[in-house]
Amino acid sequence: MSQVYDRVALIGLGLIASSMFWAIKRAGLAGEVTGYARSDATRETARRIGLCDRVCDTAREAAEGADLVVLCVPVGAMEAVAADIAPVLKPGATVTDVGSVKRHVIQAVSPHIPEGVHFVPAHPLAGTEHSGPESGFAELYDNRWCLLVPVEGSDPGAIARLRALWEGMGANVDEMDADHHDLVLAVTSHAPHLIAYTMVGVADDLRRVTDSEVINYSAAGFRDFTRIAASDPTMWRDVFLTNKDATLEILGRFTEELFALQRAIRTGDGEHLFDYFTRTRAIRRGIIDAGQDTDAPDFGRGKANP
Ligand code: NAP
Repeated sequence: MSQVYDRVALIGLGLIASSMFWAIKRAGLAGEVTGYARSDATRETARRIGLCDRVCDTAREAAEGADLVVLCVPVGAMEAVAADIAPVLKPGATVTDVGSVKRHVIQAVSPHIPEGVHFVPAHPLAGTEHSGPESGFAELYDNRWCLLVPVEGSDPGAIARLRALWEGMGANVDEMDADHHDLVLAVTSHAPHLIAYTMVGVADDLRRVTDSEVINYSAAGFRDFTRIAASDPTMWRDVFLTNKDATLEILGRFTEELFALQRAIRTGDGEHLFDYFTRTRAIRRGIIDAGQDTDAPDFGRGKANP
């Protein structure tokens, strides 16, 4: 794979940025990658593990002269970072982001993008429950989707180049409108996370979560909820505060369906339950057939990782 940008700047050095760095290096997609994180501790860790060719003490220093600047901070911090780096952005450069919510980021960041600089929002649909500079790995984006969400007037050349970068990092790339993105993600990611947080909260309220029996015998259902509910609190707080409408819309529908299932259980309507579960099983099959998950028993955990 050949070089796509001379210099890429990663602002924020957590899971998403560190995975980008290792994936960029794996394929030789950039001449130099600079990085910045707000805390001394994260910058020190980044230097120690060789994350980025140059770790800078300010976001401006990292962004200055870069051909691509990637905002990899929580959604609620995007605006302040964009305002900070705006004066040093190189004419012709592209600014992109990796935020999990798009309409809010576009509204927050666009006003700070100087004339002559391109803005192409993006969202890689890949992640783990881990965060921080040491959690990244080069394979995170392999065969995952990255959605580009161009804004009005986005430069086709800038979009094509960013697409080449994500494809070079292993991702499949598609383009989507911001509002549609936020609704789709509310269904596939945001509402499920909220449900997982709630389920684990309920178990905690019942004070049973500390029972070794519950922990040892929790089958995939509860265990998977606890994995999702271990995701970064800052990131997820910002997601719900900034994708409010779409998340509330999906939660409304979820509550209606939950009531219908509750009623089926109460009235002994086995046919309703069976038909419902048959439909949802087909959705799972579709995800596996699309190569977005494995159908290994117990999600591939096996005996080695109970
Ligand atoms: P992360 O591992 O928690 O890293 C976040 C980085 O942002 C850290 O370097 C942190 O700095 C910095 N940061 C936090 N608050 C900040 C603030 N107020 N001002 C400036 N910098 C700040 O997060 P991540 O998982 O990489 O997520 C980054 C972005 O990717 C988020 O917008 C998220 O929505 C999006 N995203 C995440 C996932 C996922 O599954 N994790 C998937 C797709 C997209 P310090 O280390 O110095 O505190």
